[in-house]
Formats: sequence, structure tokens, C-alpha cells
Amino acid sequence: SNMDRGIVISDEWCGYSVDLFTFPSHYSGDLDCVLIPHGLILDRAERLARNIMDDLGDHDIVVLCVLKGGYQFCADLVDRIKALSRNSNRTIPMRVHFIRLRSYLNDQSTEDLQIVGAEDLSFLSGKNVLIVEAIVGTGKTMKTLLQHVEAFRPKLIKVAGLLVKRVASSLACVPDYTGFEIPDRFVVGYALDYNEFFRDLDHICVISEKGKLKYKI
Ligand code: 5GP
Repeated sequence: SNMDRGIVISDEWCGYSVDLFTFPSHYSGDLDCVLIPHGLILDRAERLARNIMDDLGDHDIVVLCVLKGGYQFCADLVDRIKALSRNSNRTIPMRVHFIRLRSYLNDQSTEDLQIVGAEDLSFLSGKNVLIVEAIVGTGKTMKTLLQHVEAFRPKLIKVAGLLVKRVASSLACVPDYTGFEIPDRFVVGYALDYNEFFRDLDHICVISEKGKLKYKI
């Protein structure tokens, strides 16, 4: 259903002009548009936190933050789950664990997927696990990660993904909690990078051709 897809951003939507917002001036000319303003990301994270609380409240969870791109979303989502725990009788005792994946060079997905920090996840056994990812493209990364985590026999695994791309070659592997469904364009900001640049940008933006050239390696 549409609810499961999150906020759907259509292919026709070309985004907001960057000049309508503030952003670091060192990225002038490097961005085509603002696809999702920072405030909207936070509003959506707040609602996802409530959905997660409704489903998983009253049990311990282990939050598995997928670095590096997922750090900002994970921090903001965990913040909002904590706020709900403070302000209601439902509460989720949380642990946060970090793992790191790397599969991209420039804006191209590479074949070999490396998982760092996931060598021994035996503490996940019997636990409710919430994997927090910034973006799902083909779903290949998420599928690999799920298989890896499942091997440690958690009681339950849920996935929260801020962004899901509408890609042709999708494995139809989608998160349980999705922030936004977006067009198949390369996005940066809110901890998402292009060769390590743009993590220091709050809005989720589409990078320009000039930007791609400038930070290419
Ligand atoms: P998938 O395996 O689903 O095709 O790709 C997922 C991974 O590719 C994400 O974890 C992320 O690291 C990277 N990725 C995919 N699309 C984008 C994008 O538009 N921007 C950035 N910065 N990374 C992306």
C-alpha cells in the first residue's frame, strides 16, 4: 500500500531550487535541487518512530545502524523513539550497534560488498533487531545484510530505511518502515555521500553534473 511506501516522490517532481534554502556555500553549483528538505526528513522520522514504537514497544531492541550513510537517520530516529519513551508509558530499552558497509565508487555500485564490524553479532541471538539504513537501491545490500544478520538467530528483524529508490532492477526487498520513495537519481546529504563529500549537508539533494565532476576520484 501507499503507507508502506512512505512519502512517494514522483519522477516528475524536479525538487526545490537550492536558493530557497540555506546550505554550505562550499557546495554552490554542486547541487541540482533539494529533493527533501531537512525539516521534512525530521517530520517523517518522528512518525516512523511512532510506528516502530507501536510494533516493538515494551521489548528491548538492538538498533543496528548501517554506517556511514545511516548515522544521521539513525541518530534522529533513535532520538524520536527516546522522546516517545519519555512521554508515554510505553518504552523501548535500546542498544545501538554500528556496522559498516561499502559498495559504491563515484555513483556506481560495485560488486563486492564489504561488511565491517559484523564479525560477531552473536549478541543478537533471541533479540528484536531494528536495522537502520539510509537508502535502499536495488535491495542487494539489504538482502546481503539480512542474510548475515539472520544467521545469528535474532527473534525478530525489522528494517527502517529512510529512502527507497524506484529502480528497474529492484530485488523487491523493501524496508518494514520506509521514509520516502524517490526517483532513481543519485542523492546526497543528510549523511549520504558522494566519495565522502556532502555528508555535511542537511537536506537530501540531487548532485549536479558539475558536482559529480568536481568530486570524482
Ligand atoms: P543497493 O544494494 O540497494 O543497490 O544499494 C544500496 C547502497 O548503495 C546504499 O546502502 C548506499 O550506500 C548506496 N546508494 C544507493 N543509491 C545511492 C544514492 O543515491 N546516493 C548515495 N549517496 N548512496 C547510494
